[in-house]
Amino acid sequence: MSGPKPYFSKSKLIAAWQCQKKLYLDKHRPDLAEDSDDRQAIFDVGNRVGKIAQDKYGTTDSVEIPYNRDSSVMFTDTNELLAGGIDFPVFEATFEHEGVLIRADVMDAWHVIEVKSGASVKDVNKFDAAIQLWVLRGAGLSIKSISLAYIDNQFEYQGDGDYDALIKKEDVTEFAERLQGEVTALVATSGATVMGDMPDVPVGRHCAAPYPCEFQSVCWPTDSQYPIIGIRGARKDIFAWVNKGLKDIRDIPTYEIKGAKREWIYRVTKSGKPEVLAGAKEVLEALPYPRYYLDFETTGPAIPIWKGTQPYKQVPVQWSVHIDDGKGDGSLASVRHEEFLDLSGEPPMRALAESLIECLGDSGPVFEYTTVEERVIRQLAGLFPDLQAPLLAIVERIVDLANVTKKYYYHPDMLGSWSLKYIGPAVASSINYKELGEVNEGMAAANFFLEAIHAETTPERKADLQAKLLKYCWVDTAAMVEIVRFLQGRR
Ligand code: SF4
Repeated sequence: MSGPKPYFSKSKLIAAWQCQKKLYLDKHRPDLAEDSDDRQAIFDVGNRVGKIAQDKYGTTDSVEIPYNRDSSVMFTDTNELLAGGIDFPVFEATFEHEGVLIRADVMDAWHVIEVKSGASVKDVNKFDAAIQLWVLRGAGLSIKSISLAYIDNQFEYQGDGDYDALIKKEDVTEFAERLQGEVTALVATSGATVMGDMPDVPVGRHCAAPYPCEFQSVCWPTDSQYPIIGIRGARKDIFAWVNKGLKDIRDIPTYEIKGAKREWIYRVTKSGKPEVLAGAKEVLEALPYPRYYLDFETTGPAIPIWKGTQPYKQVPVQWSVHIDDGKGDGSLASVRHEEFLDLSGEPPMRALAESLIECLGDSGPVFEYTTVEERVIRQLAGLFPDLQAPLLAIVERIVDLANVTKKYYYHPDMLGSWSLKYIGPAVASSINYKELGEVNEGMAAANFFLEAIHAETTPERKADLQAKLLKYCWVDTAAMVEIVRFLQGRR
């Protein structure tokens, strides 16, 4: 293939750094990219952190180059501004060198700051800075330093609207300078890639890092009943099997399956028959009543919203509890349900903790699934010293149901996962995560909670989200009820 010289945005070049095939598909087959619900949320957070950085590093005479789909307009605006000499911060100044386009988040007297919304400086961020420096110096600017601004996860919000200390800065000039040769080589390779045929790149760790690739449905087998990824265990084996053309767990030669967990998954998948190992019933029958099935939903925004909270630190905002008093048959129809969700936008943690203590009483096992619930309760105990005793008493009653399922049960439809989303539907048709719609996993619940409490969310949308959030949390504890009933052989 031949054609005009290709142009790359910085994000395309980062995609190329991750995988040349990803770059090719991005350029020629963007229709094959899988949509991610998280992408818009991540983009919105980036914008908000960018605005906080502008407040922090700007002055009253700062200038922002407005975005324009036509990049030549942004170049012209930038050049006109620079021609007059700048002794004030400029945001989003736009430059091009050798076909690579960049916008500099903050430029202040030849010191450049690239703003990231993560809580640490990663290698990909440093390479990002190296691309910035390559373009800026290539465009003839005497850049003296380049830094990465990122979120300080030790920042504690005081509830006063002051986010100045949310962001901290690290000078990465030396690292970026060392990578200049690598950027030159990447630009040349990437130009050849987009002008040529699709490169043949084997799958590997790069499919998930530094970012989950949106073209996995192109390179990974998706048309098998039990996709090979479900065999779990060492990734290098899975990459080798996929690169050999194997698609389904059942395609793997028996002699290549090693390790007890893999052997179990393989055996059950090949036979098509779920297995309940001896002992599950006895372990669960030994537990007294009443029994409580607990699940929290949490949110951990990059920009904290409540006094005393920190960036990305998960705080609980919702709980669901199913209560089995032991008098019925353990079915969903025979157990009671209680829940908590406060969408007022006020900090919900205190009311959440108090209502939970009341709901869980003072005796009987409290089932969790994995260790999230225990961690959250301990966190609440730290937040509210006067509630520490009853909260820590609940911790003493916790039983991790995931420890039981991982030891005693596997169904081929679990596709190598013991998460509630897989095991719940495998044991009971009443558990259906697919019908939940947009709020169908924890990250979505966290994001939609934030949307629901946002001042601009309409009452209709808020009511819709409230129903969906409640249903989602309900399903998780309903799944636990069904799993216990099933493993005890009560149906
Ligand atoms: S799935 Fe992996 S191999 Fe395929 S384009 Fe993405 S990163 Fe490259």
